[in-house]
Amino acid sequence: MKILVLNCGSSSVKYQFLDMQDEKVLAKGKVERIGMDDAIFEYKGSAGQEIKEVTPILDHNVAVRKVLAALTDKEHGVISSPDEITAVGHRVVHGGEAFSGSVIIDHEVKRTLRALFDLAPLHNPPNLTGILAVEAALPGVPQCGTFDTAFHSTMPEVAYLYALPYAMYKRHKVRRYGFHGTSHRYVSERAMQLMGPRPNLKLITCHLGNGSSLAAVMDGKSVDTSMGFTPLEGMIMGTRSGDVDPGVFPYIMSREEISMAEISSMLNKHSGLLGISGISSDMRQIEEEMENGNPRAKLAFDMLEYRLRKYIGAYAAAMNGVDGIVFTGGIGENSPVLREKVLRNLSFLGITLDEVANLDRARGERRISGPDSKVEVWVIPTNEELVIARDTRDLVLQMQQGKDQREPDLVGTTAD
Ligand code: ADP
Repeated sequence: MKILVLNCGSSSVKYQFLDMQDEKVLAKGKVERIGMDDAIFEYKGSAGQEIKEVTPILDHNVAVRKVLAALTDKEHGVISSPDEITAVGHRVVHGGEAFSGSVIIDHEVKRTLRALFDLAPLHNPPNLTGILAVEAALPGVPQCGTFDTAFHSTMPEVAYLYALPYAMYKRHKVRRYGFHGTSHRYVSERAMQLMGPRPNLKLITCHLGNGSSLAAVMDGKSVDTSMGFTPLEGMIMGTRSGDVDPGVFPYIMSREEISMAEISSMLNKHSGLLGISGISSDMRQIEEEMENGNPRAKLAFDMLEYRLRKYIGAYAAAMNGVDGIVFTGGIGENSPVLREKVLRNLSFLGITLDEVANLDRARGERRISGPDSKVEVWVIPTNEELVIARDTRDLVLQMQQGKDQREPDLVGTTAD
């Protein structure tokens, strides 16, 4: 079974094409600047084939058709016909309270996705546009949606409600949903495999990238996470502020005479590592400048480490203990300096560090805590596309089995 995984943004499509026999990625790439005359199309096949083009790409329909053309291209392709694509899996950002797991996309699911546009106005509309583009290009091919929010649907009320008037939740569904769920699910499941089966295993998963979030995962279920109603709450991120006293917003708005839209842009695009350092949102640059003695870069790094430490401490308290901590995402996987600093500052949890394993980037997935550490600490590279592809495969198989079981009845009914 071969599955195409798509992550459709407002002006981009990222894709991977997998053979589920051995879960091998046959091809991957991205389309950027959709809607522009100088859109970028990139494709890489597993045998080293490459396409890079700057070309007008009017919309997501054209982008999807270009991906299909590359996959079936005589010279660079990995399949001879689009018929070899069994199903398409989509990353969908917001599932609201409607979706607690991945689903086959049908008319009803599309209707619900539209109803959720208000909750994720930047993300869900392009996700649906991608689904419709595939419908047009590959009619009849089953599509599956995997939601960023779904893994956190197990959070209890105490964790997901804000202490606002309850009517705000009832009337407008204002609550914490959490994001990065597919990544937290992948690394927590992998950590459970690596650490061996234990009852009530308590994990804290730290997805640290341009966007960052932590999850408290008990017995395989998310019980709390740091992002909330939107992906702005929680950690200090590349350009996002994370937690801020909401009382600050009307104050800044009146002092600076700026609008709600400008405040929102400040919080989402000009804060975080970039806002504090004044240098960059990129952790590599922050670390480089910190080594060069730049005090604002050091402050940004220290603030991020401090916020991370506080969340780990909070989640250890929320679960009344912690057995394992997992680092993932661009920063989580690649910044030994941050991991070392935060783990040394958490020595009260009985954590010790294996310095060699922490520094050994080449080893990828690995345990970085010492043999005597009371908490196991792991680096586990995330793989959201694989989760989407596996869910799509499982749902398509279920659907096919369901059809096989129903068919004799239907035949019987007709014959009668
Ligand atoms: P996204 O959230 O967009 O998926 P990523 O997970 O790719 O982002 O993470 C991007 C972040 O990872 C950037 O801040 C980048 O600087 C950081 N990063 C990547 N490599 C390293 C490295 N070697 N050391 C420190 N930070 C790194």
